[in-house]
Amino acid sequence: MSTGELNIPSTVKDPHYRYKMPKIQIATQGSGNGIKTNWINLPEVSNALKVPLLYPIKFIARELGSNTETKSNSYLINGSHDAEQMQKLLDKFIKKYVLCPKCHLPEIHGKVRVGKKNEIKSTCRSCGATCKLDSEHSFASYIRSEPPPYEKEAEYSTGKKDEKKMDSKLKKNIKECCLNLASVINDDEKYIEKNVGEIKKFIAKYNFNLECKFYCFSFAIFPDEIYTKTFLKRLPLIKYFIENESENKPEEALYNLLIGFIDKIFSRQKGENQKYVSSVLYYLYDKDILKEDFWLKYLNGTIQEKYSSMFRIEEGEKKMKEAAKDFSNWIENGPYEGEEENTNEKKEEKKEEKEEEKKEEKKEEEEKKEEKDEDDNEEKGKKKGKKKKGKKKKEKEKEEKEKKEKEKKEKEKKEEVKEETKEEVKEEKKEEKKEEEEINIDDI
Ligand SMILES: [Zn+2]
Repeated sequence: MSTGELNIPSTVKDPHYRYKMPKIQIATQGSGNGIKTNWINLPEVSNALKVPLLYPIKFIARELGSNTETKSNSYLINGSHDAEQMQKLLDKFIKKYVLCPKCHLPEIHGKVRVGKKNEIKSTCRSCGATCKLDSEHSFASYIRSEPPPYEKEAEYSTGKKDEKKMDSKLKKNIKECCLNLASVINDDEKYIEKNVGEIKKFIAKYNFNLECKFYCFSFAIFPDEIYTKTFLKRLPLIKYFIENESENKPEEALYNLLIGFIDKIFSRQKGENQKYVSSVLYYLYDKDILKEDFWLKYLNGTIQEKYSSMFRIEEGEKKMKEAAKDFSNWIENGPYEGEEENTNEKKEEKKEEKEEEKKEEKKEEEEKKEEKDEDDNEEKGKKKGKKKKGKKKKEKEKEEKEKKEKEKKEKEKKEEVKEETKEEVKEEKKEEKKEEEEINIDDI
């Protein structure tokens, strides 16, 4: 962590936490009764919190019982206040109006609104929960008078130019499925089939056709921080889902997956992640999910003609093609012409990824080997036991029987303990993995 950065909220101590904000920077100006605190980096902080510019200063001023003054790009609070105290109040603001009350992630931006009874409500982009935010605090009245921008249905847009119309119930179902499906995906699940089973079970409730199914799947499977380890980890799941759940129409399924992706990047996130589009496509290509032939047909419009989709938005498609230029060049010209530098970069990335995979595989192999060795030793032990038994058989059969019983019991006990430690190690590993995942690729 660089020194000027804090987690959102700063009470989270994980240095690899993906949500960061700059530390509050202030300067005191004036003197006597006219002394004021100038919040120098308010725009940066508000930007990091994804809240309207004046929200943090208005909240803190209310907490301090002071007034604010904003003129010519300076943001002032009456009186002299220290940064530490303000940081604490900012954390309070974050807990009340930036974090999802359910999962505690700062993922409610664009989804905060004033409800019917003047309640402040939020819907979480991460866990899908709709919650009530503190509506009693005096700052709530400020939200009511200056509500934050609310992202309406843009991301579930129906593609007005398309003749097909969605009825309101289907629209509602799609929205609900999109928002909640993400929480079904289990990134710790080892078996793709199990994960797919859960996803299928969840989607089945809605009785969707293929395009709705893959649109929703796409919405959930691409993480919000698009270019992360979570995404890389989910690639096999995407591949499996397209190959096995597309009712023998993998091309159409992929097309709707792509539309969901476009919607996410360009409608919902307003393009902030578009620089990763080519890289994401490259990985889809690398895993044989997106095929060269498909992409060429997509570029010339053949795919769109063949499978009309009610989710298609031409505007988004244009932006997508623009953002995917590097990838398209690479597909059209081959890896050794034109965009050579870029390709090398990608190769480098791929190499690193492969190496990491290899390392992990090796580790696993070693672990397996160790287990096997242990088993082998046990096997040898048993054989020895048998031999002994043969020798002693004639002499002390009764005694031997008792001894065997005892040994058996001891062995069982040992195995129990072994099982327990194994479980513990597994748990630990899981946690380690989780931590690793939080790291954005860009941070490495
Ligand atoms: Zn949440």
